[in-house]
Amino acid sequence: NNGRWDEIWLAGLRDTAPETIFDKLIGGDIPASVVYEDDKVFAFKDINPAAPAHILVIPKDRMNLSGLRKSSPEHVEILGKLLVAAGEISKNKELGFGDGGARIVINDGEDAGQEVPHLHVHVLGGRSMVWPPG
Ligand code: C5P
Repeated sequence: NNGRWDEIWLAGLRDTAPETIFDKLIGGDIPASVVYEDDKVFAFKDINPAAPAHILVIPKDRMNLSGLRKSSPEHVEILGKLLVAAGEISKNKELGFGDGGARIVINDGEDAGQEVPHLHVHVLGGRSMVWPPG
């Protein structure tokens, strides 16, 4: 149904931005150390860990979420799923997380140091953190 398709397109819901390296990890074209996966969420070890435990939690379908500033009400469900997965992962001792909690971070935009334009939640742990972050 073209009318419906145009409606979706015009609503800006279709993600037309170029794929990122994360799509290659999700698709298995580049090997990832996957720690959790379901139909919507994909979580893997950061290749350049900034803490003893460092996991990235991402939506399988980017849904235009190059960053959190692109979020709108249709993203409520996926954003909730990402945070619930992050919370679960941060309790996993086998991944190096301790009892003391974790730092959950979204770098959103250039000033925050975001490198990959596919929303990702950093889950860092296994050591104590300092505040404010650098
Ligand atoms: O928040 P930011 O965009 O800077 O984070 C991107 C993260 O993706 C980095 O921590 C980087 O180490 C990680 N990365 C990865 N595997 C890749 C490319 C980037 O884990 N192939």
